[in-house]
Amino acid sequence: MWARACPASWSTRPTCRVPDTDVLERLRLTASTCTRCPLAEGRTQVVFGVGNPAADLLFVGEGPGREEDLAGEPFVGRSGKLLDRLMWDEVGLTRAECYIANVVKCRPPNNRDPAPDEIEACRPYLTEQVALIDPTVIVTLGNFATKLLLESTRGIRELRGQVFERGRASVVPTYHPAYVLRAGGEAMAEMRADLVRAKRLMAAGRA
Ligand code: URA
Repeated sequence: MWARACPASWSTRPTCRVPDTDVLERLRLTASTCTRCPLAEGRTQVVFGVGNPAADLLFVGEGPGREEDLAGEPFVGRSGKLLDRLMWDEVGLTRAECYIANVVKCRPPNNRDPAPDEIEACRPYLTEQVALIDPTVIVTLGNFATKLLLESTRGIRELRGQVFERGRASVVPTYHPAYVLRAGGEAMAEMRADLVRAKRLMAAGRA
């Protein structure tokens, strides 16, 4: 699924990280009028992603909920508050310093799971976001992001606790914060441990 390991404009690696901000912004504009799948009909707006276009750390969630659909920003509800807290506690970063995106950019009605055809229709946007942001570490939040980015059918319980190299990034699967809000205790501790793992990988730089 990694159509391009890095954008063509980066065929010679720069010595410092210069974000392809304009290309990302053009992609956001393209996505803002997307009608590639039926989710376009029910959305208030496309929730493309937020944060630093040159982030070392990319979080990928499932899809916008009601609050995100209204705000136009990922993870602004209760799950987002938890994500913000854990990324600060364990990685020492704010959402403005990371980048946060979702598998699908439009809200599935009644917060149902995104359907396979919707995920497939939206996939090029995420692929391009990964290529342009070119993060060192991708933290996948829950089953949908993990299965898509690892091209795996295995579930998050089986995959978390491990690190997978994909393209230029290390992928760290962890629970979706909504699950951690429900499950608490051990799940919270495991998610914290996963974020510490992500922080260590970022400090170590690329493999
Ligand atoms: N859950 C997600 O997966 N993404 C969001 O943006 C909000 C909630």
